[in-house]
Formats: sequence, structure tokens, C-alpha cells
Amino acid sequence: MAQLEEIKARIDIVDLVSETVKLRRAGRNFSGLCPFHSEKTPSFIVSPERGAWRCFGQCNEGGDIFSFVMKKEGWDFKETLRFLAQKAGVTLEAYTPRQQEAKDANERLRGLLEEAVNFYRHQLLQTDAGKGALDYLHEKRGLTGATVETFGLGYAPDAWESARTHFIDKGYAESELLEAGLLSSRDSGGTYDRFRNRIMIPIRDEQGRMAGFGARIMPPHSPPLPSEMGGDKGGAKFLNSPETPLFSKSRLLYGLDRARKPIRIAGQAVIVEGYLDVIALHQAGFENVVSPMGTALTEEQLRLLKRSTRRIVLALDPDAAGQKAVLHGLDAARQALDRQTETGFDARGLLRHEARLQADLRVASMPDNLDPDEIVQRDPDEWKRLVSEAQPVVLHVMNTLAAGRDLEDARVKSEIAAQVLPLIEDLPNPVERDTYRQRLARFLKVDERALLGPQAAGGKGRRIRPRPEKPAQAQGEAPAVEARPLSPGHSIESHILSILLAKPGLLYRHDRALQEAGLARLGAEDFGYTDHQIIFRMVRQALEQEGASPEEDLRRELPLAGLAADLLTQAAQWQQRDDTLLDDLLRATVKLRRMGLGDSINQLRYLQEEANQQGDLMAGSYREMVLQQSRLLRHLDQAGSKLGAARRQD
Ligand SMILES: [Zn+2]
Repeated sequence: MAQLEEIKARIDIVDLVSETVKLRRAGRNFSGLCPFHSEKTPSFIVSPERGAWRCFGQCNEGGDIFSFVMKKEGWDFKETLRFLAQKAGVTLEAYTPRQQEAKDANERLRGLLEEAVNFYRHQLLQTDAGKGALDYLHEKRGLTGATVETFGLGYAPDAWESARTHFIDKGYAESELLEAGLLSSRDSGGTYDRFRNRIMIPIRDEQGRMAGFGARIMPPHSPPLPSEMGGDKGGAKFLNSPETPLFSKSRLLYGLDRARKPIRIAGQAVIVEGYLDVIALHQAGFENVVSPMGTALTEEQLRLLKRSTRRIVLALDPDAAGQKAVLHGLDAARQALDRQTETGFDARGLLRHEARLQADLRVASMPDNLDPDEIVQRDPDEWKRLVSEAQPVVLHVMNTLAAGRDLEDARVKSEIAAQVLPLIEDLPNPVERDTYRQRLARFLKVDERALLGPQAAGGKGRRIRPRPEKPAQAQGEAPAVEARPLSPGHSIESHILSILLAKPGLLYRHDRALQEAGLARLGAEDFGYTDHQIIFRMVRQALEQEGASPEEDLRRELPLAGLAADLLTQAAQWQQRDDTLLDDLLRATVKLRRMGLGDSINQLRYLQEEANQQGDLMAGSYREMVLQQSRLLRHLDQAGSKLGAARRQD
């Protein structure tokens, strides 16, 4: 049995969750108050036989032991795996020689980058050349010495070979310096310092390891003119490290290493646009703030954040261009994942993205043409208020569309409704959908019934996924965990993944068939096991990057490589088959979703009953949710039989 399965089998989810949550037995399940949001009525359910947890309240999410620990601690999968492996007494496989080699090379690069941090810091703090930069940080940016120290800020001298000479003298090869992104190549041959006359901002990954630099050009030294704002002489205002093995703009978020815990404590993450905004906000005590790498937000970045919180506030630049860039980024991220649908910038695209990520995205608009760091310097309480008043994206879009229009005009009404309703239908939570529909009706002064269109297609329920039962533990010695038939949910998930690993191209045809039947395409959220979600994302990602093979990625991505061995063996058997695999895949997907919806309905019914007995008002919400899930189940069944019929005709 693969090590991952062994870990899953050895750790009892009830024991694990009980370390944090007081659980009460509730029939076959356990219930308690959700540890991830505050509530008075328990809506948090743990199913020991399925090894799963689920919050039916505000979080509206669930998963396995891995996702529980990831969410609770703000760790990534690998950290969580190490932790749970140790807890389960399972030794993780060692690296293969090739993996070890890649790891060593990365370690060397990180070491070099750490030395570069010291080099630039020395230039800033201890040389005359750095004096101007230091003054700028203190006087213009209001950063204290402690903050400069905490964030490891530095200064790259205004010279072509300063870093180059320093590191070559220290024994580094030119090729290493190039690979770390510290040097650039001349067309005519030779190399020179990439960063010159810039304030250097070390960028670390979410675990605090050096990844690269962001560099802001120094404003000119001449006495500042009143109109002078930026100082664009000598290149772009901001320059990042080039893409290197460690520095990937789409995967890093500036400040996340420091913000991870504060984000979990605050229950939300705030995204600003500039590195210096992040630093100023941290200095003012607002530590749940991060920023993308000077480019639009990507799906991967949102995913990184989502490990710590569902609620993400976008503090958008006051200027429209900045707003557009952020919104556009979200849309771009969606496009990358959703090739079948109509593309182009529209608000629906943005929200679709939100729905798939199951994130609660909000927008805070900055007033008076000020940047976040200017606002927090003017008045920290104002920042607090702006963030707390951030509008849900639906409302933001509603207000933006309505601005300056005549809401009495019937045509305007139907136009706005036509644009906003699809956004509402995409929301993951049925209670939220009802609330927004009512709001839109009031806003447009129309009867709410007029807004009740056909049910949103999709049929993607949320579910708690089954898991292999805990094996009977032998007394004394560590139990030999046998390979035994896994639970239906687990084996359906691995069945789907093994086919996709063998024939990744099938995923497009599979998506198309589902969408033609009115169902959502296959997504990571269809899978209940965290490792399966990760593997599915890899398959989709590899498919979208030409030439990449998911199997390669899987083998490279530590430490999943060894752990997914069973899956790869299983995949090998599909290589020779083609004709019926698509049908096979479709059937498995429908079955998986049906099981998920069935589980949810049962658990919600139980919660409803319990709330009823206690005369709790939540009973009504649970009832609504049961109805909603039942509708989804009916829709899924209809689509499923349509799919079956259509496939037979082919
Ligand atoms: Zn919750």
C-alpha cells in the first residue's frame, strides 16, 4: 500500500479533529462548532467511516485529514504530509537521485541569494552610496529602521559590475550568478549587474526561503520638484528577478511567509498591488497583507492564499487601470482553466473563477487617489474601515454597472439583471444566492420572482468523501496495514485519475461532454482527498502547458512522486485502451458526484433535525440546503441519463 494510503488508514480523523474541536456523537457522525468560523449552532460534521470533515456553515467546505491540518495550521501539503506521516509512524520514502540533484541545485541557489541579501543590505546601511536610498525609505516611505531590517531591504549600487565582482571574488561561477538572476547577459557576450541603483526587496516563498528580488528604481537625487512622483529615469520603476528555478512570478505572493499566520487569525487576506504597500501595512500592524509580483493575480496565487482563508479582499489601486489589471488577472486565470467557454473580459468570468475556487472575493476601493501605504500613514483606522467595508464582488459589479444609469428605465433594469444574475447563480452557497437575488430585486425595484430564472446548471455538489475504513489495529507491534478493497469514493477517484494520467488529452473531451449535458466540467473540488486534488490540478496544468507530461510533473513534485506510485501503475494498464475510456470516465464522474450529493443530503438532514429539536433558526437554512442539494441531484440524474443515451448513439 502506498505510504499515503497508510497514513490515511492509520490516523483517525475523530481523534485528530478532537484535538481542536469538541465533538459530540451524532448518529454515525460527530458534530461540533466549526473551528474555522465562529458560530453558535454546530454545522461542522466529522464522518469517521469516511475519514472526512465538512462545515455546512459559512465555510461551506470540507475534506480529509490533510486539508483539515492544512487549513488549521496554514501549511502546504508537503509540510502537512511530513507532520501526519510522523504522527502515523510512517517513514516517507527518500528522494530519488535525480530529485536529490535538483534539490541540491536549488539549495545552492538559495544560499547564493541569501548572500545577495547581505550584500545589498550592506550597501544600503553601510556605504555612502546607499545613504540616498536609506533616506528615501525613512523619509519618503516612513519606514523605520526595524522595518528595513525585518524585510531585509537593501540597495544595489549604481554600477555595472559591483555585484558581479563581489560574487566572482567569493568564488561563484558566472553561470550560477546568471541562474540566480543577479546578472544579465550582453548580446555581445559577457555579463553585467541586473540590478543597478535600485532599492532591493528580497522575495521569499511562503516558507520564507529566498526566491528572488523585486527592485525599485531610486528617484533622482536632485531636489524633488513638487510634481515629481516616481523617477522613471533609467528603466522601469520596478524590476523583478527573471524567471528562475526558484522565482516564478505566477506562483509567489510577496509577504506570504510573514502573512500566513496573521491571515488565518484575521480570517481574511488582503491583496494590495505594491511590495512597499505590503511593508508599510505590516509596519502599521496589518500583517494579513500580500501582493502579487507586479503583474496580474493568477489562479495559483489565489490557491496559495486559499490554503489559509476563503475570504480574500482586493484592495484595488484607485486608478481604473490598476482595477482593471487586477480584474483582468482574475479573468486570465480563469481563461487558462476554462478554455471551452467564451473568453474576453467580463464580470461573469471573474465570478466563475470565484465559484470554482470556492473563495469569498471582496473589493475595497481606495479613496482620494491614494495608495494603501498613504492611507495607512494618514490614518490606520481608515485602512481598517476600508477593508471591513469591502464589498462582495457581486455588489461591486452591481454598483459599477449601475453607476450613472437610469434605474427606472426598464431596459437598463433587464440589462443589469442579465449581467448580474449569472454571477449570482455561480455562487457556491445557496443561502448566499438567495440573499443576493433578493438584493438585486430590491436594487432594481422588481419582483424577486421575475429574477428566478432556470436553475443554474452545474450539478456540482459539495460532499464529504468516503475513505477506507480504519483497519483493525493489531495489539502491540505497529500494525501491518494490508492492501484491501478501498472505499468506493476513494477507488472512483483514483480510477478517474489513473485514466487521466494515462490519457490526459481525454480531459478536454470529457469536459465538453459534461458541459453539453449541462454539467460543470471536472474540477479539483470533485475530489475529496487532498492528494487527489493536487494530482488532478497537475494533470490539468500539464495539459495546458504544451509538451509537459503530468507524469513527469508528478514524479518531480516531491514528495508525491513515490507516494503516487500505485496510481501510476494503475495508469499503465490504460495505455493500450482507447475506445471506451471516455464513457468509463463520464460514468465515474457522475457516480462520484452522486455519492457526494447523497452524503451531503444525509448530513444536512441530520443537522436540520437537530436544529429543529433545539428550536434553532438555522433549521430553515439547513432545510433550504437539503432542497438545493436534492435539486442538484435531480439535475445530475437527468444529465447523467442524457449523457448515457448520447454516448450510446455515438
Ligand atoms: Zn465553518
